[in-house]
Amino acid sequence: MECDKCSGEAVMHAAYSGLHMCEEHFCASVEKRVLSRIREDNLLPNDATVEDPETWVVGLSGGKDSVVLTQILDETFTQDPRVELIALSIHEGIEGYRDKSIEACEELTETLDIRHETVSYAEEFGIEMDDVVEDDPHNMAACAYCGVFRRDILSQYAEEFDADKLLTGHNLDDEAETALMNFFEGNIRKMSQQFDSSIGPFDGADSSQTRDEPEEFIPRAKPLRDVPEKEVALYAHLRDLPAHMTECPHADEAFRGEVQELLYELEENHPGTRHSIMAGYEELAGLASAAYRDGSEDIDECENCGSPTTGEFCRKCDLLETLEAV
Ligand code: SF4
Repeated sequence: MECDKCSGEAVMHAAYSGLHMCEEHFCASVEKRVLSRIREDNLLPNDATVEDPETWVVGLSGGKDSVVLTQILDETFTQDPRVELIALSIHEGIEGYRDKSIEACEELTETLDIRHETVSYAEEFGIEMDDVVEDDPHNMAACAYCGVFRRDILSQYAEEFDADKLLTGHNLDDEAETALMNFFEGNIRKMSQQFDSSIGPFDGADSSQTRDEPEEFIPRAKPLRDVPEKEVALYAHLRDLPAHMTECPHADEAFRGEVQELLYELEENHPGTRHSIMAGYEELAGLASAAYRDGSEDIDECENCGSPTTGEFCRKCDLLETLEAV
């Protein structure tokens, strides 16, 4: 099959757009979607200058998504020094898994020559995910603990590095799965919270504004969210990027797995489903945000660590306390 843009051999066919693309045009199209998203979401404000650049912290796990995002951002901003990139990796304490992906992060950041920091749950909280899974005092999935600790570290270090934005490598499939999970769980408040804490994950928002988000939160952005997962993987492969492809041994989010299967089937039978889910979800989340805004709870400081919380203690401190008690 030929590329629809030249006579080269096509390496992929996107059923949702009908396009066949060769390696060169496919890679260019992924990069273009990321840059369009950055532009549409106004991630780079007009007043950013070489003398006073923006600092963007990128969560770099070493998996394909964050590696591809870091690579594309670096290629973009080496020619535009109004943005300083800092890659932040988190070691959760998962034997035989995270060491390898941290190696991938080191290889990438050394090649790109960007600042790279690694933080571990052991240093920060005195825990390792392997032990958390073993003890499991709340009888929860590993990711439910891990997500809380990861979010805390990302926010804390983004603040420490004086970051203007916190970027993560969520792709289109991740976002559509989360949207469906929120629908199925009837979790409208969560939709509105995601809207408030993110820059531009939703159409029509002026992200140069910080919406009505509390000042305590550094705005988050997901510039890869228009690119389907398989295309991210193909891009990483074609560009020979040092992405670590092995799955975490504790990845046991059963519900997400079911939603993922459902989404694969829907996309297979009705190409473009992921895009339309996100278009509708974004509109709905904006409405939910407006509806909840008036009655929103006050953000306070956790009595233990000072993190923003609506209760006396934040979720991370609650979890750490029960883990200590085991
Ligand atoms: Fe943590 Fe779950 Fe990711 Fe494993 S899959 S690193 S447990 S969030």
